[in-house]
Amino acid sequence: MAVAVSPDQAAPSSGVTADGVTADRATDDGVTRFSTLWAQTLVDGGTVAGTVAEVTGELEPIALRLAGALAEDAGTAIGHEIATALADLGYPLTEIVASTVTVLLGDAVLLTGHDTGRLRALIGAVAEGLAKVASERTLAEQEERQQATLTAVRASEVNRRTTEARFLALFEQTAAGIGIATTSGYVIEGNAAWAAMLGCTPEEMRGRKVMDLVGPGGSPEVLTRYREMLAGECDQFRIEATHRSLDGRTMDLDLSISRVRGDDPAQDFVVGVAIDITERKKLQNRLWYEARHDALTGLPNRTLFLERLAGLLAGPRPPVQFGLCYLDLDSFKSVNDGLGHEVGDRLLIRVADRLREATAGSGGLLARLGGDEFGVLVEGCATLNQVADQVLASLVPPFVIDGRELTVSASVGVVDTVTATPEADALMQAADISLYLAKSRGRGRWERHDPRRNALQVTRATLATEMSSALARGEFFLEYQPLVSLDDGRVRRVEALVRWRHPRLGLLQPDEFIEIAEESGHIVPLGGWVLRTACQQAHEWHHRFPDAEVGVNVNVAVGQLYDPHLLDYVRDTLEETDLPSRLLHLELTESAVLGDTHGPLTVLTGLAATGVRFAIDDFGTGYSNLVRLGRLPACELKIAGSFLQRTPGDEPVNDKILPAIISLAHSLGLTVTAEGVETRPQAERLRLLGCDAAQGWFFGRPLPSDEITRLIAEPSPSVF
Ligand code: C2E
Ligand code: MG
Ligand code: MG
Repeated sequence: MAVAVSPDQAAPSSGVTADGVTADRATDDGVTRFSTLWAQTLVDGGTVAGTVAEVTGELEPIALRLAGALAEDAGTAIGHEIATALADLGYPLTEIVASTVTVLLGDAVLLTGHDTGRLRALIGAVAEGLAKVASERTLAEQEERQQATLTAVRASEVNRRTTEARFLALFEQTAAGIGIATTSGYVIEGNAAWAAMLGCTPEEMRGRKVMDLVGPGGSPEVLTRYREMLAGECDQFRIEATHRSLDGRTMDLDLSISRVRGDDPAQDFVVGVAIDITERKKLQNRLWYEARHDALTGLPNRTLFLERLAGLLAGPRPPVQFGLCYLDLDSFKSVNDGLGHEVGDRLLIRVADRLREATAGSGGLLARLGGDEFGVLVEGCATLNQVADQVLASLVPPFVIDGRELTVSASVGVVDTVTATPEADALMQAADISLYLAKSRGRGRWERHDPRRNALQVTRATLATEMSSALARGEFFLEYQPLVSLDDGRVRRVEALVRWRHPRLGLLQPDEFIEIAEESGHIVPLGGWVLRTACQQAHEWHHRFPDAEVGVNVNVAVGQLYDPHLLDYVRDTLEETDLPSRLLHLELTESAVLGDTHGPLTVLTGLAATGVRFAIDDFGTGYSNLVRLGRLPACELKIAGSFLQRTPGDEPVNDKILPAIISLAHSLGLTVTAEGVETRPQAERLRLLGCDAAQGWFFGRPLPSDEITRLIAEPSPSVF
């Protein structure tokens, strides 16, 4: 601890004489003790960090130097030297001046014997040195700091310039259009991309009113929102919009407009970024289009149709009234099966064209809903029937494809939101039910949904799912219609016609379910059952009336002809029922065997080898391909009933065609049966034309087997 004493009072501590003259050199011990006292003072005063021992160690060399200075007259330079040494130790010079001087005054005697004058001079030199070095060091530090600040400022300047240059490059070279404008609506700056989008140069737009540049071609929504932003209603908006440039180009833009706020509202500005998304939009539109259109006909597809339907249903309240026509081509399958899918596709394209024309005026949406199904969505209910009429009328003129005339009709289910539940599923189901009704009532017609017809709430899909269990439960049965010989009026054969006694719907005629059976694949088991039942029955008649030689005609659908097991099935059935094959005639429709596809021919040849005969059914309603007719192993031609109907205007034509067909068939070695003979004059005329047999209500309706048995047992006298 330093003792505050004046130099005059300093008490000698070792080897000090009474006159104050001490020995020349300090002892090591004295230097250490001085250093300790000095260190203690500095540490206790809180000016130097560290322990007393550490600081003592640091101060000892300096104390030694002080001792030396006291021993020989060191001059003032010593003060600077000591101060520098202390500054180098990191001691705060200005703060240690007082305590250092105090220690020197009090305890310098420990260092050496000295005279007071020299001590005073030393203390003065040290004090001055400390002050001087302290000030030198402060200056140096300040300079250093200044230098560092200067360097930092320079670096930040360089940084700023680099950033600016980068931003400028970005601004000028980016594909995005960037424009900066005042909040009063004047362009401050715009890059080349934006200028190109607007249809001018960056120089031309600087200082111009934004509205003059974007106003003429901007979308109204963008302009409204931009004005709202200028009025302070929002700070930012993003929008996709179509823009027309000043030079007349149209493009799709993704626009992002922001108001950038400064500390002072007067310095606010508006930044707009525009990205040209025309190509992306085009791609998006194309993908959207492809997902919602039918590739074959180019019409909207089921997805788009159902979306529109959902859109109308979700529309404003009270909802708009609308309706739809659900159209299905009649017997389109036979075109595909008979003439091949390529012809089928071309026919569909032509049908679509006709429908497009027919519905153009209705403002409705025409769509292809599936294979041969089309839909028309019409707003308002008043014109629905008219649309259905026009659609049907448009299909009446025959289609000419590859020089071949094809006749197509359609059945249409019509439904509206007033009478049916206005829900998508309910509407489609109601339309399907009405379509089914149109089919079962004779095709080529439309039926409007009738909510009172609830009992008949059955769709084609329901019937299809019920078919196999119906077969197992024995709901199908056969009736037989006589084919009568025109020369003696005797029953030569009977045609087996299937019926369905449906538990809910009552008696269903084949027109109501054969097509469904074909489409759903049930025709193979159903047809198989018909064949077996008819053969069993024919065998029974043959067994009871061996001389009557009554054969049975069984209808075979196209789907059965493509069944690989058909040949075996027919062979097995004949064997198991023990029916002579000559008594079985298979009726094949024209479309199945006279078309362009060759598939069935092999099967027919195989079947012919078993001895069964073929009849071409409904001749004249399809392709009437006479060349092919000659190549088939057929033995009978059944002329469609329509040839007998004498509609005014058709008479001369039909009058000529009928005899021509009969004589042609005879020349090909075929017997001829006329179908749909309803009157005596028709029967009479056919007989005179040399037609071999006839079938129709005039001779007998389809009857249960026991009534046929009676007919065979007791032949009625000739009707002629
Ligand atoms: P289809 O083979 O041409 O059979 C003759 C159809 O004409 C029968 O109708 C018959 O009732 C009807 N018909 C008979 N005489 C007259 C007449 O004088 N005037 C009129 N207007 N019609 C007459 P049905 O029983 O309704 O059968 C319709 C069609 O269903 C049949 O036409 C046939 O193509 C098909 N079909 C019937 N049973 C079967 C079957 O077991 N299998 C297959 N694949 N089709 C069948
Ligand atoms: Mg038939
Ligand atoms: Mg027929």
